[in-house]
Amino acid sequence: MDVTFWGVRGSIPSPGPATVRYGGNTSCVSVRLADGEIIIIDCGTGARNLGRSLLASGFGKGKGSATVLLSHAHWDHIQGFPFFGPFYVPGNRFTVVGGSHSSELLERVLERQMAAQFFPVQSYRNMGAQLEMRAASEDREVRVGTARITAHPNPHGPTQALAYRIEADGKTLVYASDVGYDKGGPPEETVAVYRGADLLIHDCTFTPEDQAQRITRGLSSLADAVEAALRAQVKRLALFHYDQDYSDHDVDELVLRGRRLLDERGAQPIEILGAAEGLTVRL
Ligand SMILES: [Zn+2]
Repeated sequence: MDVTFWGVRGSIPSPGPATVRYGGNTSCVSVRLADGEIIIIDCGTGARNLGRSLLASGFGKGKGSATVLLSHAHWDHIQGFPFFGPFYVPGNRFTVVGGSHSSELLERVLERQMAAQFFPVQSYRNMGAQLEMRAASEDREVRVGTARITAHPNPHGPTQALAYRIEADGKTLVYASDVGYDKGGPPEETVAVYRGADLLIHDCTFTPEDQAQRITRGLSSLADAVEAALRAQVKRLALFHYDQDYSDHDVDELVLRGRRLLDERGAQPIEILGAAEGLTVRL
């Protein structure tokens, strides 16, 4: 499976000369499976460029289909939704999975940002493509082609965000953004969801020092990401969802520091990388 990053920031887009290497768009990751199925994880502003690239394929002719997995509905995970080009091509079909109590509630939440006060299209029903909303109840399994996907609710400040474990083509990808663990780090049932992943994309919004000043935000530090990777014995850790004020240099430092933390704990075999816009990791 090919995993491509289209947006790696948290909270708000941060374009500018200080963020050109890692990118300034908010959370969006695409997964292309060996059987051609496409899975999109979160629709932050990075979804706009993903949409442009998909329009060059069957999605431009109304022959595309994909599954969209939403971790939660904070702005930086849904603001690319109205700007995702393939949604405007009749004939394309999408299943949108999110963490609401019901599919109706998920639909209502996503419809709110389409309302006339916020956006001229007024409803996603006016976009052209067929969108089916589906609530992911706890531990319910979603099947996409040959992929087996499980959703796991993580604490995220006053709310929750879903982590997704995707098993396909003999490989495992875990996406765990926007998580603020209790003091003890990830609990055992969460570690079980991450366990043995070939790639763990984990929230790394802050340095440990900055996180200590913003603990109520419900977001992870570099130390949380490293701890999760260690406990779950993953093969590769991708740092993700950087604070909007971190420059490329700051993110370089996070990656170097993460490498040192892993080495100090005897985890030399665990690879670490900083997620960057345009980067594809083949599993
Ligand atoms: Zn976020």
